[in-house]
Amino acid sequence: MPKGIKSEVRTYQMYIDGKWVDSASNQTSAIIEPATEEVMAQVQAGSAEDVSRAVAAAKAAFETGPWASTTPQERGRVLFRLSEKIRQNASKLAELEARNCGKPIVEAEFDINDVATCFEYYGGMATKILGTVNPVPDNAVSLTLKEPVGVVGMITPWNYPLLMATWKMAPALAAGCTCILKPPGVTPLTALEMAKWLPEVGVPPGVLNIVTGSGSICGTALVQHPDVNKIAFTGSNAVGKVIVKQAADTVKRVTMELGGKSPNIFFADADFEAAIDGALFGVFINQGEVCSAGSRILVQRSIYKKFVEAMTEKAKRIKLGSPLERDTKMGPVVSKDQYDTVRSYQEIGKKEAKMSIGGGRAKKFAKGYFIEPTIFYDVDNRARIAQEEIFGPVAAVIPFEDEKDAVKIANDTPYGLAGAVWTRDLFKAFRTIKAMRAGIIWVNHMQLTYVEAPWGGYKQSGFGRELGPWGIDEYLENKQVHINLNEQPIGWY
Ligand code: NAP
Ligand code: MG
Repeated sequence: MPKGIKSEVRTYQMYIDGKWVDSASNQTSAIIEPATEEVMAQVQAGSAEDVSRAVAAAKAAFETGPWASTTPQERGRVLFRLSEKIRQNASKLAELEARNCGKPIVEAEFDINDVATCFEYYGGMATKILGTVNPVPDNAVSLTLKEPVGVVGMITPWNYPLLMATWKMAPALAAGCTCILKPPGVTPLTALEMAKWLPEVGVPPGVLNIVTGSGSICGTALVQHPDVNKIAFTGSNAVGKVIVKQAADTVKRVTMELGGKSPNIFFADADFEAAIDGALFGVFINQGEVCSAGSRILVQRSIYKKFVEAMTEKAKRIKLGSPLERDTKMGPVVSKDQYDTVRSYQEIGKKEAKMSIGGGRAKKFAKGYFIEPTIFYDVDNRARIAQEEIFGPVAAVIPFEDEKDAVKIANDTPYGLAGAVWTRDLFKAFRTIKAMRAGIIWVNHMQLTYVEAPWGGYKQSGFGRELGPWGIDEYLENKQVHINLNEQPIGWY
């Protein structure tokens, strides 16, 4: 393309009942690239009417369409083919995800690889959904059949857009459910790109629909729709609470993957270099826009001063830059809204604690939502920056005296998504693991996820689990079947 001519901005349609369609309102909304603040695409601004069309298609596909009569083997093969498509197109998808979210390309490549792995995993699991034979005290056969929950609405966040959607779509499709995905308003592009392969990999019309639009309109319509049997939600606590209440009217099943304020605990006996690295990785990966971010860094008093200094020194070397440059370690945050939120917490933090680095906009960039990695220390756990999820590159370092003190501070939060412990003492590690009220605990690492292992929160970080066999259970009902083997009347009357 000649210099100075901008690439054409593409307008995406929505994917409903196997067709690409405009929204009923004929309105579109602009998708902004966070590194440049320029429009990178237009998407349909969906309405309740579009949601209704998608739900009707999903219901028909579930009840009478081809999905209802597929075998688990066929569903598994569909997911394998989709996984293969994603691997073949991984670099293009990763580039789009990096540009749309602002995340470093190397991280986006990890995400897309995980997407493909997740479809593979649940493709394999489609044929391993086992019912039970129940040992009842009668001349009878008692069975439990596993059946799909039905039509599932999926509402997902912007930090790992395609991956968070896949953690829902892959097990739901393997289980035999049909789906309506409402991707995040600011980052819907990779899900829409993926949809173009659905016909050729063998996903029939209506089985997976994508409706773009705002959460307050399309999300609400999905949650309230009587023909949606379940809502799978990942997002903030504030929205999660609204959804739980609204879902009550139709007694919908809901699973909630919500936020966190996860403690990353460093005991004095931990490997010091590994610890510094782990503290930075835990809180600054993906610009800190991670539900399980180790945003409260708890450090034992005897190494505290040295730790803050070393962390600060190393944080100076974090390379901020264009998401598409391979040595970039931190890109811009996702949107102007998120930029304003994180900036306001930087100002709150300056009043609540001491700051060793950062505290503002990253000044070397003329454009883009770039924020300096920021470390606050001597933070009181009751401070807002220690209690509220910031979802940006802002760390709160908190000193502690001993094991008991560490656990008390770690659990002193309404959240319970994740946590990590750094020590070379296995007994201390295990005591701490057992005392921590959170769904995911790492020892001498932070942020690894595996499709084979469960993911989800305690306390106000939500309920239900994604990934592994736990993840598919959330899309299955248990049907009890009793077969009487006595050939006489019951004999009661
Ligand atoms: P969010 O604001 O709660 O939005 C999540 C999704 O809900 C978006 O698709 C949003 O649509 C939609 N939504 C908004 N209002 C709604 C309503 N009234 N009814 C139904 N849907 C509605 O969260 P976010 O800002 O995208 O993501 C950040 C949050 O996600 C953080 O709190 C983070 O901790 C959490 N998260 C949790 C996990 C986990 O596994 N536990 C993983 C990743 C992220 P719009 O985009 O159009 O507003
Ligand atoms: Mg939001």
